[in-house]
Amino acid sequence: MPTPRDPVADLRRIAFLLERANEATYRVRAFRSAAAVVAKTPHDELVARAEAGTLAKMAGVGEVTARCVTESLAGEEPVYLRRITATEGADLPAEAAAIRAALRGDCHVHSDWSDGGSPIEEMALAAADLGHEYFVLTDHSPRLTVARGLTADRLRKQLDHVARLNEALPDGFRILTGIEVDILEDGGLDQEDELLARLDLVVGSVHSRLRDDSARMTRRMVTAIANPHLDVLGHMTGRKVSVAGEGDAAHRKARTRPPSDFDLEKVVSAVLEHDKAIEINSRPDRLDPPKRMLTVAREAGCHFTVDTDAHAPGQLDWLDFGCERAALCGVPADRIVNTWTAERLTRWTASHR
Ligand SMILES: [Zn+2]
Ligand SMILES: [Zn+2]
Repeated sequence: MPTPRDPVADLRRIAFLLERANEATYRVRAFRSAAAVVAKTPHDELVARAEAGTLAKMAGVGEVTARCVTESLAGEEPVYLRRITATEGADLPAEAAAIRAALRGDCHVHSDWSDGGSPIEEMALAAADLGHEYFVLTDHSPRLTVARGLTADRLRKQLDHVARLNEALPDGFRILTGIEVDILEDGGLDQEDELLARLDLVVGSVHSRLRDDSARMTRRMVTAIANPHLDVLGHMTGRKVSVAGEGDAAHRKARTRPPSDFDLEKVVSAVLEHDKAIEINSRPDRLDPPKRMLTVAREAGCHFTVDTDAHAPGQLDWLDFGCERAALCGVPADRIVNTWTAERLTRWTASHR
């Protein structure tokens, strides 16, 4: 008799791998919902239902997920899971792997409080599983209404919620508080000062008027970098690159966006002067900044973060892409602030206020 596998773990693993492969969140949700239902169902009932072929009659379980559960219970790796793991990527080059191993967390993560697909606790558990010591929760600010940006009031509620979650999370993992705050047209930050001051870390990003002329965009970015609340400059050029395998060529091209125009030297000088960090955004559709800019910033002596900008648990594993770019551009691991402990990281952010 083969040993039965854990169907919940198999369903969650499938969801994780699909998210990592940048599948649309709605397609992955079937697996996460089914995992939640199966986790609550007694084992004997699952076995009986698998034998009778009635797993899919449970709310939240479909034909595909029912088949996975049946295979798991029979001790077989679900065919669906085997198919995805067969297409997993190659190993990281040694220099990139060393940076990845040095990372202790992630400074740019979204939850379903804004435009992410999963609750904060699911993101946290997945991060802890990856071996992270922390991540900074950085949901959007009010201006970004399309992404359900958090009003001051909702952010206050989120801070209370995170404080409660932190008490229940596994030892050795902690959620740090934060925001991805919109950099407004005048360089101001889209949230109340009092709230920004309370957060562990603030990522500031430009999400609007990306085609403004260089002088205007430079002024806007430099003003934001000088703001004592901002710690990290998020996806600095705002570019979107095409992702291999995502639809046909025309569709991929339609989703690309050129980098914004700004004076890189002035922006890098401001980052250095105020001891802030430039984000190396690992999202496959961003990979921002471009390598030539990253090299300029590294030569100037800037600090960096390597972030995923994850909107689902599996996307937390995108750090590899950022590490690869950091290694290619010669960024030393100790200049990446999320290789630091949470204590050192928050001491550094506190020094800006
Ligand atoms: Zn953003
Ligand atoms: Zn983001």
